[in-house]
Amino acid sequence: MSRAHNFSAGPAALPFEVLEKVKEEFLDYGGAGSSIIELSHRGSEYVEVDRLARERLVSLLGLGDDFEVLFLQGGASHQFMMVPFNFLSEGETADYINTGTWSKKAIKEAKLFGNVHTAFSSEESNFSRVPTNADLKFSANAKYVHFTSNNTIFGTQFPSEPETNGVPLVCDASSDFLSRPLDVDKYGLIYAGAQKNAGPAGLTIVIVRKDFLAKSKKEGIPTILNYHTHVGTMFNTPPVFGVYVFEKVLGWIQGNGGLAEVEKVNKAKATLLYSEIDQDDFYTGTTEVESRSLMNVTFRLGSEELEKQFVSQATAHNLKGLKGHRSVGGIRASIYNACSIESVKALAEFMKEFRAKNG
Ligand SMILES: *Cc1c(COP(=O)(O)O)cnc(C)c1O
Repeated sequence: MSRAHNFSAGPAALPFEVLEKVKEEFLDYGGAGSSIIELSHRGSEYVEVDRLARERLVSLLGLGDDFEVLFLQGGASHQFMMVPFNFLSEGETADYINTGTWSKKAIKEAKLFGNVHTAFSSEESNFSRVPTNADLKFSANAKYVHFTSNNTIFGTQFPSEPETNGVPLVCDASSDFLSRPLDVDKYGLIYAGAQKNAGPAGLTIVIVRKDFLAKSKKEGIPTILNYHTHVGTMFNTPPVFGVYVFEKVLGWIQGNGGLAEVEKVNKAKATLLYSEIDQDDFYTGTTEVESRSLMNVTFRLGSEELEKQFVSQATAHNLKGLKGHRSVGGIRASIYNACSIESVKALAEFMKEFRAKNG
């Protein structure tokens, strides 16, 4: 068996230990004689998986009793609609920070339900940066402020949360969820598709503060799209395989010392690549230095031809998934939690060699 150095943006690498454990348990889960995905979601086995996943998440993030955790389906894209469906009515305004493709998609959906005020946009510079607090121009009575903590496609990340002066913060954290400690008390709602940094596709994690949830619309929301429906109970079949793997990923993070330790490794990984980029003009970063993402490292080479060669030779070196998003081109190395420092070192080494041959 040969495992690749996997730099895929999503679905993305998962910890090898987690995959091994899943493999080991897959045909016979804990003596049940069935796989976990063949058992009732209301049976004792799955109920325990669900409980443990919540317990680990609460512990890792330091969530207090004032938060609800929901395991939903539909991906982050589903939350683009569900957030305004529950929190924004005609005539009301929500503020959105536009830092890339995913922010724009969230804005498009919100406009179906109420007014959107754009508090900041970096679209004119092709989303090369995130705002500082001084850049943000909020509206007077916003229901919430929405931001994308890490911009998966453009390679930017908020170094810390935008200051909203008490207006509830809603965050699409899909591509940096659990990559660093989070000051959860700053948030009204956090959502993340699992498939970047937390597990397989199919599970969407939603964390919502109770006092924010209390402000949601009371009527006119289809049952399954109403957050209240999912609080404290399994309304319908949850994404059982996703939650099962997520629970193991959380255990893996705990075993590695928690989010502060994971963040240290993530910083070390990103530094390895950015220092290659900053050596000279052979590689050019696509974002402003202060906005650089620790999760998705994006850069260009002198020509598209050279970028093609870079990707194909990297692939031949077992370094996979490095082609930039089709909307921006160039190279993107996604180095989420489960991408090991060994993989990142192998990529940095390859970048050196490629420069020496072609520079
Ligand atoms: C991948 C991604 C999405 C889309 O997620 P789906 O689960 O495919 O809907 C949304 N936002 C961000 C920041 C992402 O990285």
